[in-house]
Amino acid sequence: MPIYEYECEMCHAHVELHQSVSEHTAPAVCPSCNCEHTMKRIFTPSAVIFKGNGYYSTDNPVAKNSNSDSHKE
Ligand SMILES: [Zn+2]
Repeated sequence: MPIYEYECEMCHAHVELHQSVSEHTAPAVCPSCNCEHTMKRIFTPSAVIFKGNGYYSTDNPVAKNSNSDSHKE
C-alpha cells in the first residue's frame, strides 16, 4: 500500500498515511494545529526511488534531463 504525504498549510506539519490507491484523501483536520481543511497532498520523489531494491542506483535523473521536459522547476 502506497504512502501518501500531506502538508498542513497553516503549520506545515507533514503527515504520512498508508492509504489505498483508490481511496486516498487528505486528513480533514491537521493533527498538529487542529485546523480543518488545511491538509494538502504533497509529492515526495524519494518514495519512488525507495521502491527499488538498492538505495543507490546508476540511474541518475540529472543525466536524463535533456531527455525529459517533465521537470518544471
Ligand atoms: Zn496544521
